[in-house]
Amino acid sequence: MRQVLVAGNWKLNGSLAMIKTLIDGLKAGMGEGTQAEMAVCPPFVYLGNTLSKIEGTAIALGAQDVCDQDNGAFTGEVSASMLKEFGCRYVIVGHSERRSIYEENDEFTARKFAAVKRAGLRPILCVGELLDEREQGITEQVVARQLDAVIQKTGIEGFQDAVVAYEPVWAIGTGKTATPQQAQDVHAFIRRRIAQHDQAIADRIRILYGGSVKGNNARDLFAMADIDGGLIGGASLDSEEFLSICKSA
Ligand code: PEP
Repeated sequence: MRQVLVAGNWKLNGSLAMIKTLIDGLKAGMGEGTQAEMAVCPPFVYLGNTLSKIEGTAIALGAQDVCDQDNGAFTGEVSASMLKEFGCRYVIVGHSERRSIYEENDEFTARKFAAVKRAGLRPILCVGELLDEREQGITEQVVARQLDAVIQKTGIEGFQDAVVAYEPVWAIGTGKTATPQQAQDVHAFIRRRIAQHDQAIADRIRILYGGSVKGNNARDLFAMADIDGGLIGGASLDSEEFLSICKSA
C-alpha cells in the first residue's frame, strides 16, 4: 500500500510573512481528514524558517533543486548534504522549468538525482513531455528517455525510496490538467518501465501527478490506480486549496 504524497512546489514565491500565513493555515486545517503525507518545498533561503514553523507537525520539508556536486568551488550552489542539515526529506530534480529555462539535460538531472541519493535524501524526479511531443505521439519515448538516464547513472536501486512526478509540461501552470485517464496511462507506463528492472521497487515507488492540480480535480486524479499523489505548484500557495487537495487522498 503506497501512502499518498502531496508536495507543494512554491517555486520563486514567498516571503517571511507569506510563509507564516501559509503554514499557520496548514497547521490549523490539517487535523483529521487527510491520510496523505504532506510536504512543502520553499526556495532555499526560506528552508530554515519554514523548518522552524513545521517542526513537530507531520509536514515534511523539501527543496526545489540541488547541486550535482557535493562541495567545492561551485559558487551559488547548494549541496544535498546542506539540504539534509536543514531538515529536508525530499528534493525535486529535473523540474521542467529547470530543463527548459535553464537548459538542464537528462544527464545533468541524473547527476543531481545521484547527489540527492548520496546524501540519503529522497529525490522527486520530474518527467514529462512538451505539448508538441504529445501531439507527435512520443510521450512514452520522452518519459522513457528521462527515466533511463537516471537508471543508467544510479542503477535501478537509485529508485528505492525515490519518488517520480509525471508532469506533462503543457499542463504546468496553464490551468489545463491531463484527464485522469491520460495521466493514468503514463503513470502505468512509468511503473512498467521500472518493473522491467525491479518489480518490488516498481510496486513500492510513488508516482505523483503534477500539472494544474486543484481542490476540484484532485479526487478524480488520485482515484486512479497508479497515481499516488501530486506535485502542486500554484495551488500550494493557498493553504485552503492545498489542504483540500491533501484531503482528496
Ligand atoms: C509544478 O510546478 O510542478 C506544477 C505542477 O505547477 P502547477 O500546479 O501550478 O501547474
